Amino acid sequence: MTASEWYARGREHVWLPYTQMKTARAPLPVASAQGMRLTLADGRELIDGISSWWACVHGYRHPHIEAAVRQQLETLPHVMLGGLAHEQAYTLARRLAGLLPGDLDHVFFSDSGSVAVEVAMKMAAQFWLNQGQRRVKFLCFKGGYHGDTFATMSVCDPDEGMHSLFKGALLEQVVVELPRDAAGEAALDELLGRYCGELAGIVVEPLVQGAGGMVFHDPFTLQALRRLADAHDLLLIFDEIFVGLGRLGDAMFACQIAGVQPDIVTLSKALTGGTLPLAATIASKRIHEGFLSDDPLHALMHGPTYMGNAMGCAAANASLDLFESEPRLVQARAISAQLERQLAPARDLPGVKDVRVRGAIGVIQFDRMAPADRLSAICIDHGVWLRPFRDVLYTTPPLIADEDDITRITSAMIAATRDLGEVISA
Ligand SMILES: *Cc1c(COP(=O)(O)O)cnc(C)c1O
Repeated sequence: MTASEWYARGREHVWLPYTQMKTARAPLPVASAQGMRLTLADGRELIDGISSWWACVHGYRHPHIEAAVRQQLETLPHVMLGGLAHEQAYTLARRLAGLLPGDLDHVFFSDSGSVAVEVAMKMAAQFWLNQGQRRVKFLCFKGGYHGDTFATMSVCDPDEGMHSLFKGALLEQVVVELPRDAAGEAALDELLGRYCGELAGIVVEPLVQGAGGMVFHDPFTLQALRRLADAHDLLLIFDEIFVGLGRLGDAMFACQIAGVQPDIVTLSKALTGGTLPLAATIASKRIHEGFLSDDPLHALMHGPTYMGNAMGCAAANASLDLFESEPRLVQARAISAQLERQLAPARDLPGVKDVRVRGAIGVIQFDRMAPADRLSAICIDHGVWLRPFRDVLYTTPPLIADEDDITRITSAMIAATRDLGEVISA
């Protein structure tokens, strides 16, 4: 079938993500992808400025990942982890344990970020239940995003997670502002005193809140959360699904940059370099030991059918190889410096509230909700694929992006921002 055929015939059957199907602009049919570039069915080429939702860190079709997945397909595409073992999952678990700091040594595989966070929440709640304590709620933060399933929605920002729409169906959590200074820490300390004995843990996206609006915080916040977790005997969960695996440039993981040891970490998005769905929930020794018992009901009661999928794990192992053999963190830092330089002029444009960069994340925030379709169309005219949301236009490019690629992306962002300014002043 030609692109126009499969597209026209399938279009009314595909229900799109976060999309008002009645009014949305049609998605762009993609024929193939290579490196930084998507080739559309009509022959146009776009630079992918957001790495397919932050996953494709090594670019599309990196030959090393492609070879690993192909070889795995030909030997063992998948086998259940219940009662059976395979090399790729066991090797990946060992490598992740080695890369993560401290005794974050125990890896539970799943197949999406939301499920990895569900597993982290279940782990934390059951850790206390196994000790006879019923502590099933979580402290979480305004502006946070942890996934789209019911439990993860409950720990998202109340507006983003649509808490009022789903009232009654969602678990009720304790949602607060992130503590950003000593006063914030003291206030949270006082609040936690009141919830004593009800909370299992704290769930936070370390250093950057992504899908909630690309908002940054300092290591202080995470250090404060560690102190509070220790003082109130809460488990600290770092959701590194966005920021983990090199995106921030200074280290592989945000917890290392902040110098904070969480009890549980979640990873997904970049784990397979954007090739296959895979996620991991990694727990410390203390958490894992909380499940060791002669009582079978003390086992972690979770087991996705496709957990530890062999092709996904082969892709993830190949992706970790690339972090060792190619200078991804250096590249992320170079991208960061270039984004700083080239996005700075946007600060003076009308309608712009803030411009900020952390690692290989560049953000232009507007003083109002952005006309996403219009901004995106201008970027496409400039040969760049970006997907603005709420009040931000941002880039999270593949870490292989070279100077010209980043210049193309930032030029498109500035052009789209200028256009918005013209609309505002007209
Ligand atoms: C994307 C994301 C998730 C959810 O991952 P999915 O694979 O989309 O379910 C959870 N947490 C964070 C921080 C994310 O960025």
